[in-house]
Amino acid sequence: MIPKDLYYKECKNPDDAIEWGMQNISPEIRRRFQNAERIGDSQSMADFSYRIEPFVGDGWLCIGDAHRFLDPIFSYGVSFAMKEGIRAADAIKQAIDGNDWKTPFYAYRDWSNGGQQIAADLIRYFWIYPIFFGYQMQNPDLRDEVIRLLGGCCFDCEGWKAPTIFRNAIEEYDRKQMAG
Ligand SMILES: Cc1cc2nc3c(=O)[nH]c(=O)nc-3n(C[C@H](O)[C@H](O)[C@H](O)COP(=O)(O)OP(=O)(O)OC[C@H]3O[C@@H](n4cnc5c(N)ncnc54)[C@H](O)[C@@H]3O)c2cc1C
Repeated sequence: MIPKDLYYKECKNPDDAIEWGMQNISPEIRRRFQNAERIGDSQSMADFSYRIEPFVGDGWLCIGDAHRFLDPIFSYGVSFAMKEGIRAADAIKQAIDGNDWKTPFYAYRDWSNGGQQIAADLIRYFWIYPIFFGYQMQNPDLRDEVIRLLGGCCFDCEGWKAPTIFRNAIEEYDRKQMAG
């Protein structure tokens, strides 16, 4: 996985990208691949993240990959699927007990969107500012929060500083991009 700008600057095609990555990102992989035989052309994917909207409705809701997929590198998939599954089970029970799907399902939707957004912000911040992300990890005020966020604690982190820092930095970045 390499940033788009870097791809266009350093590589003419996906084969180049693999060569460049082995040379500059992971020489160890180059060593392991030295006797490997290429059996096909390399292929690139611009974006594999997706989300389903709406993901709750009358008598149904989506969890895990059926709802949203963020990023394979950060490995949130199993953790988020389980967290959403647990929360969805509660919402379903409340819907049956209260004979009303909207209140519990919309609460599940909002809770899920909140946590997924915090994870999406962290991932985007990392790819925009990889060096600064490493620097933030040295900050004792943020280190523990960032470790927990990387571990999947994105849904119940009210009052944490790191998510706000990431969100503000992304909004500022987007503003600058829009301005030219
Ligand atoms: C190559 C690869 C590596 C990954 N590595 C990681 C990792 O290291 N860490 C991590 O957290 N995540 C990883 N993920 C992502 C993770 O596997 C998914 O995010 C996670 O499994 C999603 O769980 P899920 O329950 O939503 O979906 P799934 O695990 O896909 O479960 C859906 C299940 O529904 C079944 N099913 C589908 N249609 C029907 C039907 N009509 N009737 C009955 N059953 C049906 C399927 O057979 C499947 O068993 C990886 C994914 C891939 C593809």
